[in-house]
Amino acid sequence: MSAPDNILRPVRKNTGKLRLVHHKNTAESETVKMPAPSKVVIPMLQHIGRPCSPIVKPGDRVAVGTKIGDSSEPNSVPVHSSVSGTVSKITTIRHSNGNTCEAVVIESDGLMTEDIFLSPVKVETAEDLVNAARESGLVGLGGAGFPTHSKLDIPKGKAVDTLIINGAECEPYITSDYRECMEHPEDILQGTNLVKSVLNIKRAIIAIEDNKPKAIKYLKQVSYELHLDKEIEIMKLDSRYPQGAEKVLIYSVTGRKLPINQLPSDIGCLVMNISTVSNLYRYIKTGMPLVSRRITVEGDCINKPMNVEVPIGALIRDVAEFCGGYKSEPGKILMGGPMMGVAQISDEAPVIKQNNAILILSIEAGTLPPATPCIRCGRCVEICPVYLMPVAIETAMRNPDREKLLSLGANYCIECGCCAYVCPARRPLVQVMRQAKERSIKS
Ligand code: SF4
Ligand code: SF4
Repeated sequence: MSAPDNILRPVRKNTGKLRLVHHKNTAESETVKMPAPSKVVIPMLQHIGRPCSPIVKPGDRVAVGTKIGDSSEPNSVPVHSSVSGTVSKITTIRHSNGNTCEAVVIESDGLMTEDIFLSPVKVETAEDLVNAARESGLVGLGGAGFPTHSKLDIPKGKAVDTLIINGAECEPYITSDYRECMEHPEDILQGTNLVKSVLNIKRAIIAIEDNKPKAIKYLKQVSYELHLDKEIEIMKLDSRYPQGAEKVLIYSVTGRKLPINQLPSDIGCLVMNISTVSNLYRYIKTGMPLVSRRITVEGDCINKPMNVEVPIGALIRDVAEFCGGYKSEPGKILMGGPMMGVAQISDEAPVIKQNNAILILSIEAGTLPPATPCIRCGRCVEICPVYLMPVAIETAMRNPDREKLLSLGANYCIECGCCAYVCPARRPLVQVMRQAKERSIKS
């Protein structure tokens, strides 16, 4: 069943309504590189699409950047080792999003020796770019996990005229993309220009919320110095949540409305996260695939909140240890920010490619007062940026029926968390929306 007409509308005209308190406490925290932990656990599923299969076995020696998993499925991307050492086992783990998948466990030798077969990549055509993006193992680093090569592979017959680089970073606490702007502006700008020129896209815009004036100013200055100021626009956006959500961003930047069931390329847009485009450029320059990423480690329960470059597959507890350890027993650990983050059942989960933050909260800060009955105030409906009725979907989930959930458009939820944030009854609406979405898509 398709969604009814009343939700077949583009994103709300107000482009997101929440003004959040941002708590960007780590904004000036320069990224610190975490040394190799004693072991990493690297999941074979770190993207939207089918999981990879391991191509190594226990006892194999690997180096940093060695490919350890791959798949022939179109929406899968290869997985690489983030340390040098020895594969100790292939096992099944619980993923940070709650699903189970295969993972390769590697005991590190502490040397971080790089794979000798890595070398810079030549990119001249669109096909070269798509192949490079796939081999880099890149997915959307803003959290979505959509394979970068699939985004860049613009379907025949579709004309993309606008490249939007998403630097909104609208979630509270997270400063990972902001640090990318401050530490690697050349890579962002050169990567953007490369994608623009190779894919022959007319206009390129780097869009950043206006609560990051230093990043905006710095990118403008570096773009002038690199003579890219005529090629790339730097656009200031209103700091309103969820400004970084794809539909909201496209509307804010271009005024174009992305109808439900359509892709950005259907309305002439290509949207990439700012750290993704930067990492893609570094891969082309060096041949080193995505083996580490910057994570904002924050929360009232961690001793030293900071931005850390973490090897993919490092366990949360090892990252926390590197950040000075816990102040007390954590009450809640979120992979991601407070609006869209996923609560973890323990600190044994590994960091994956799309994690941009770990939020470690004390029992007091992480425990919400109990939910009370819905008072039918309609605030959740009023705030939803994609015109859903969270209260109705929550009611439908008491007796879940796929047709009913589809008719309410549960599959179109962008999991932004706005409904739960405004609910005076503290209903756990995001968790219910996630379950409803999964049920409406899968069952
Ligand atoms: S999380 Fe809530 S507010 Fe956000 S899209 Fe889903 S239903 Fe709408
Ligand atoms: S915001 Fe909360 S209390 Fe108000 S209608 Fe929605 S679920 Fe009910």
